[in-house]
Amino acid sequence: VNLDSLPIKANLCSNNSVATPRNIPAHDILSSLQTLALDGYFNLEDNGHAAKDFGNIYHCPPLAILHPKAVSDISRTIKHIYEIDSASELKIAARGHGHSLQGQAQAYQGLVVNMESLEGPEMTVDAGEFPYVDVSAGMLWINILHETLKHGLAPKSWTDYLHLTVGGTLSNAGISGQAFRHGPQIDNIFQLEVVTGKGEVLTCSENQNADLFYGVLGGLGQFGIITRARVSLEPAPTKVKWIRVLYSEFSVFAMDQEYLISLENTFDYVEGFVIKNRTGILNNWRSSFNPKDPLQASQFNSDGRTFYCLEVAKYFYIDENEAMNQEVERLLSELSYIPSTLFQSEVSYVDFLDRVHVSEMKLRAKGSWEVPHPWLNLLIPRSRIHEFVHEVFEKILVDTSNGPILVYPVNQSRWNNRTSLVTPEEEVFYLVAFLSSAVPFSKGKDSLEYIQSQNERIKEFCKRAQVGAKQYLAHYKTGEEWEGHFGKRWQVIRRRKSEYDPLALLGPGHRIFQKPI
Ligand code: FAD
Repeated sequence: VNLDSLPIKANLCSNNSVATPRNIPAHDILSSLQTLALDGYFNLEDNGHAAKDFGNIYHCPPLAILHPKAVSDISRTIKHIYEIDSASELKIAARGHGHSLQGQAQAYQGLVVNMESLEGPEMTVDAGEFPYVDVSAGMLWINILHETLKHGLAPKSWTDYLHLTVGGTLSNAGISGQAFRHGPQIDNIFQLEVVTGKGEVLTCSENQNADLFYGVLGGLGQFGIITRARVSLEPAPTKVKWIRVLYSEFSVFAMDQEYLISLENTFDYVEGFVIKNRTGILNNWRSSFNPKDPLQASQFNSDGRTFYCLEVAKYFYIDENEAMNQEVERLLSELSYIPSTLFQSEVSYVDFLDRVHVSEMKLRAKGSWEVPHPWLNLLIPRSRIHEFVHEVFEKILVDTSNGPILVYPVNQSRWNNRTSLVTPEEEVFYLVAFLSSAVPFSKGKDSLEYIQSQNERIKEFCKRAQVGAKQYLAHYKTGEEWEGHFGKRWQVIRRRKSEYDPLALLGPGHRIFQKPI
């Protein structure tokens, strides 16, 4: 990668280390690292790849990339750096599939550990009373899906896109339309193997090293590098009934979403999104869906108005088709969507879960995948969602449309509050995800700068109106801002950092801890 040729600035990087007379220059540490006997190897030449991520905004080249072949490669490397000096300049970032948005998996002038090259033992599925699969942390979720399906099983909680690694999503949370019932992916893990910032390899779970276990889940890679995970499974369905309906009023849309997630017998997946500033929407948002009533649907006129699309799915086995249809009819009959906008489709379970990959292929073909992605993900308490929606959709995002905007509620009580993830403190809160793409070199309303300024206005509103929002996949520039983000959890985060990564070697891309604790 020629960084100069990118349409965006590479000047957002900073070396997080604090200069002290005792610092050993990173280059010297690197030379000594090369004397270690490892199964894998260091790459000092071609580091452009590790300076890129899906966000395509930050490009911070490391000095070297470690391609580990064994967990011991990671532990030996970290132990060596930890022991060589108490104020090392060489920071270390684990990199999954590089789908971070603001350089979170990068280590400017540091060391990136390429988790995808870790060759752990094969995936092993245990189909016992509490089924699980043991996987290497560099494994992509799509591969786990295919492997577990061979045993008629699958993980319970997902992300919308499966070409992400286990370690990457478990460091954040992993939230999708199943999270209202099962919690995010971090709440569906039985056990982890972790290399701490001191180079120790520890197994942790609810009953063993529990503090590290909960610290690492949602812990933004701050307390250790996850090398293996034991993921909880459930019997996998074969088919999915996938439904979309439209609302013109947010209040009615939200009422129906909240109703659905409050039920015991409900859909298996509940999400929703906003359709704004688009004409002819029925021709593009439902392309692979069929209208329940084609005549009514053809008469529906969207006029470029704002609509809220409820997206739900019911899982089933082929021989349960009739019972599933009855159940879906029952649930739909209790909702207040615009009747002519009921669209449905039946797809395989794999096609449903891997749905975003289809869009990826189309966008890649058009050259629109590797553009800057100034995404903003917020968790908004239920009590403030109406005010938020009014302000954002009627005052801030007035005449733009730069990508999907997801809006859906989840139940706090189904989420484990012992992990490092911070959420609003209400029983129900919404995920609102502004998934924008910027057009390179544009100076208009689809430019990176314009979208970033809109994101700032949204964040400023949340702050000014004290909405109680929390950023998901958060990005801050200073330790003080992070302290505000973690709120009353900050002391626990600090204590865990001092215990598991006292030299603050790990996860420099987040800029949470700039110096040893
Ligand atoms: P990376 O970006 O490589 O790393 C992410 C973070 O985790 C970094 O801080 C990194 O240092 C750290 N890390 C990586 N591996 C390890 C490890 N083994 N141990 C410790 N720390 C580690 N998120 C959702 O929750 N729900 C969604 O539906 C969703 N959809 C997405 C769709 C797309 C198209 C994209 C690009 C992202 C989506 N995400 C979603 C966000 C995604 O979960 C995060 O961006 C995640 O970080 C990406 O995983 P990755 O494997 O690429 O990790």
